[in-house]
Amino acid sequence: MTIDAIYFDGEYARDRAVTITVDGHDIIFTGDGVPETRWSIAGLHPVDPPSSGQPFRITHSSKPGARLVIRDEDFIRTLIDNHRHLRGGYSWTHLRQVAAWTLGGIIGLAALGYVLVSFLPQKVAYILPDGWRNRVGEQVVKGLVENARRCDSAAGNAAKSAMIAALAEGNPDLPPVSMEIYDMALVNAFAAPGGKIIFTRGILEKADKPEEIAGILAHEIGHVAYRHPEVQLVRLTGLQVLISVMSGSNGGDITSNIAALAALLQYSREAEREADDYALSAMQKASIDPMGLRTFFEKIRKEEGSTSKSGQSSTLGKIGNVFSTHPGTEERIKRIVPMPAGQVPVQVLSPEQWQALKAICAS
Ligand SMILES: [Zn+2]
Repeated sequence: MTIDAIYFDGEYARDRAVTITVDGHDIIFTGDGVPETRWSIAGLHPVDPPSSGQPFRITHSSKPGARLVIRDEDFIRTLIDNHRHLRGGYSWTHLRQVAAWTLGGIIGLAALGYVLVSFLPQKVAYILPDGWRNRVGEQVVKGLVENARRCDSAAGNAAKSAMIAALAEGNPDLPPVSMEIYDMALVNAFAAPGGKIIFTRGILEKADKPEEIAGILAHEIGHVAYRHPEVQLVRLTGLQVLISVMSGSNGGDITSNIAALAALLQYSREAEREADDYALSAMQKASIDPMGLRTFFEKIRKEEGSTSKSGQSSTLGKIGNVFSTHPGTEERIKRIVPMPAGQVPVQVLSPEQWQALKAICAS
């Protein structure tokens, strides 16, 4: 039995007249411009369930985009009666194939994601979208400063901007950062994802000159430039980072999964050295006296023995102060050397600006 049908190859938007014959377990069709093609009947499946009076459209697993459109009702009935899998919309074989491919795809993607987060956390940190980094950064800051007030005053804000601008002088590649001060007694500073740099009121009070804060700021900008907070986030939460990015979440799902947010800020010695080197180079290019950072380090080191200070019970307090968690403070201090002879240091802030910054939490 040979019948007429229409064939679409799925690649060109034109139909071709073909003739179909059944040969054992296969159908064979051919026509003008269509080479003789053999499709197994087992591999056929209907595009739509057959319905009387309607042309029967079928495709084949070997060429899913192709279509045969059959109008011969006797042929359709015989075919369907002898091959029950052609009655439904999809055959189980087809569904199983689709499921297998889909599952294979998911497993493949998950494996790729796992390899990325496990072996290349730095690479992942650099491809995270900025919008997501900012949202996660906000959640991290919220978790770490708890209910502390964000300090804000017009003169204080102007002083913050002036300090960032002083560092940007000679450092055109400085990453975008924001600097916020929270009304907390403990002495600390940290960088959160998205370039958010947080200082406590305590660290401002501990500083005697703007170069000290500028040095800490430069160090934290180093963490931002190397995306250390994001790298740490990828390390600590693994595939959750990618899932969170793909679901477009606000970051609450991921930060709530980090048992101790503080762990996010506990960098390796190498990361701290990178941030120190970044700070020293940035300060040198901006002609900011690096000895400010050194005197501040020394001040903090003297206090390391007596750590029973306020705020120890808070999440941020558990990290200790800016440097105490990192062994090698002594070595880090030694690497900070004075400016080369002849280089004149700039005034980072005027005395008025410095006072305004130190008093930013007083208003
Ligand atoms: Zn650091």
